[in-house]
Amino acid sequence: MSLDDLYKEVILDHYKSPRNKRPLPGATVSKNRNNPLCGDEITVHARLDDDRVAEVTFEGQGCSISQASASMLTEATHGKTVGEADALAREFRGMMEGTVDPDEDAFGDLVALKGVVKYPVRIKCAVLGWDVLQEALGRPAGD
Ligand code: ZN
Repeated sequence: MSLDDLYKEVILDHYKSPRNKRPLPGATVSKNRNNPLCGDEITVHARLDDDRVAEVTFEGQGCSISQASASMLTEATHGKTVGEADALAREFRGMMEGTVDPDEDAFGDLVALKGVVKYPVRIKCAVLGWDVLQEALGRPAGD
């Protein structure tokens, strides 16, 4: 199996069995954004406990890349501090812009989205959930 196939399989797995895709009663922040180019929509709910992301879930609809990225995001940022989650969001965006070579251990399944770099119109799909997360954390990335 090629690396591309492996990446595709990881993305499809998150798309078909999304992690933490549910409302979050007790959320302290919820933000929503859409990507009109593709019809993707993502809402991120988080419960912040002091400076920590105690719980994070998402809801949404759209293409496999946007939904898989949001699913991976909830796993990758759970339990992190706001600063750490924001740093990961920046690194992820850097990977999608081709300026950051990710640390595979820190990135886990997120590395699978690296293949999307080859399809510039899909990069917005992959980054959408992270834009919403940063806005929810009060660290908007800007456009
Ligand atoms: Zn999309």
